[in-house]
Amino acid sequence: MPVPVSKRLGVQELADLNERFESACDGCLRHAVNERFGAGAAQMSSFRLEDVALFDMFWRVNQQARLVTLDTWRLRDGNGNVDTVMVQDTGCPLHNARIEAGTNWPRACGVWQRMVGEHGFNLFYRGPGWRLDCLCTGGRSSSLERFCLAGIDAWITGLRRDQGMERGNIGIVEWEEPRANYKINPLANWTFEEVRNYVEEHAVPYNELHDKNYPSIGCAPCTRAIESGEDPRAGRWWWESDPNAKECGLHLVALAARL
Ligand code: SF4
Repeated sequence: MPVPVSKRLGVQELADLNERFESACDGCLRHAVNERFGAGAAQMSSFRLEDVALFDMFWRVNQQARLVTLDTWRLRDGNGNVDTVMVQDTGCPLHNARIEAGTNWPRACGVWQRMVGEHGFNLFYRGPGWRLDCLCTGGRSSSLERFCLAGIDAWITGLRRDQGMERGNIGIVEWEEPRANYKINPLANWTFEEVRNYVEEHAVPYNELHDKNYPSIGCAPCTRAIESGEDPRAGRWWWESDPNAKECGLHLVALAARL
């Protein structure tokens, strides 16, 4: 659902917020909840190291935090059970958004059934076009709009600039025109080491795969451990050769609202 015009920020206001919160992660989250979006701010989590650190911060500033995950049905061991532990520890309800075959989105289910019937369940191994254009990550991106962003004005993510690709230029607060929604990236200027230090210092539960050479974790069939010296995202869609295409469809707004 688009953010109402009355809640939208002017260009200068957005620039001011970005300057103000470039180095103030807690302040950014407080502002988002207490002054700007209230319950309309929600964290989108896939329970990676950045996500669990960010949730720890979010929960500290807002015990009514909204936490949403997009279940692709291809996740590894339920995110290493971290989602369950986090929910048990905090009591925060987790909104698990996923497409239920034949029920909550019949049109999408029909598209997927045809896709799998014609090309197989693991068609993404054929290359980036197959996973982006043939409705694997692309379809999940549409699910984001339909199931995760409904009733949300600003989604909070754990993206970091040093992950590269389009992420290299992200702002702390961004307006996503195709989704008519705000995206807040409080960790934009953090390094992986800083995130890891935060998790250790605050004893935040995390997915143990991160200790086994998985700096980045996605769906099980599309993620492997990296070798020494490899790029941290080399384990994602490892069969693809373009290092600049290691992106999940959720953050490619060009794929938004396809179904
Ligand atoms: S990570 Fe792999 S299985 Fe998961 S949505 Fe993307 S292409 Fe599909």
